[in-house]
Amino acid sequence: MNYKQEYIYSPKCYESCGGYCCAGFTNQHFKLIRSNFIALPLFDIEYQEYLKAGAIDGMEMAKKSEKFKLKGGQTFTIHWLHCDKKGLCNPHQNRPLICKLYPILPKVNAKGEIIGFFNGTIFDIFFTDFSHPCTLIKEQRKNIEDMLKANLKELLKNPNYIFIFKVAQIVVEHLQNYIKAKFGTYIIDEIPSNKVAEFWSQIEMAMVLRRAWNSDKFISDINRAYEEIAKIWGEFLQVEV
Ligand code: SF4
Ligand code: SF4
Repeated sequence: MNYKQEYIYSPKCYESCGGYCCAGFTNQHFKLIRSNFIALPLFDIEYQEYLKAGAIDGMEMAKKSEKFKLKGGQTFTIHWLHCDKKGLCNPHQNRPLICKLYPILPKVNAKGEIIGFFNGTIFDIFFTDFSHPCTLIKEQRKNIEDMLKANLKELLKNPNYIFIFKVAQIVVEHLQNYIKAKFGTYIIDEIPSNKVAEFWSQIEMAMVLRRAWNSDKFISDINRAYEEIAKIWGEFLQVEV
């Protein structure tokens, strides 16, 4: 991976939205998630590239690292950077992939083909394009999808990144399904005003306590994603006994 690569060209788009995506995803209904920093996940393969590129000033070390083990013993680690730079990360080109691809992520199949897109953070998956705070989503969705289709080709020849995008998609879908089971929808526009506070509160608890992902179905979806990708590309994660 070339860590300096850019994927979306949108100069000064922050002027149109108050820099929403770097501001901490504020929500008046959240009681535990604070907007003074953003937690950015980097799988180990990206984290090593991030460090090699020189990192972002003041964000040289992950605040937390979590190791996960699949049924076959394959392991992967997710490192969490905490960003309080509010858009002023330096050098800007060293920002993590999730920032470079914002506001969307690719939905991929096991071959690495892009079959769609979804909103790129778990805070944004409850908006329609109309209610989304990001101007690029509102006004340039087709354009940014085309840029990602063109610019992600190299990265999607690497099974590790196919797996990363697949995991992100599964995480998002489980959170959406968890909320839909409670409210009949996961779209904020469809929630009656007297239920809005409860809606966001349930989302916050689902995130903080990981309730949306605490299921056998979630574990089996992640394992199946790995197996499908490994069947095509060969084993790509290290096995620990
Ligand atoms: S990507 Fe979207 S939310 Fe982020 S600064 Fe640009 S317009 Fe605003
Ligand atoms: S690393 Fe940069 S682009 Fe990413 S959230 Fe922080 S300030 Fe925004």
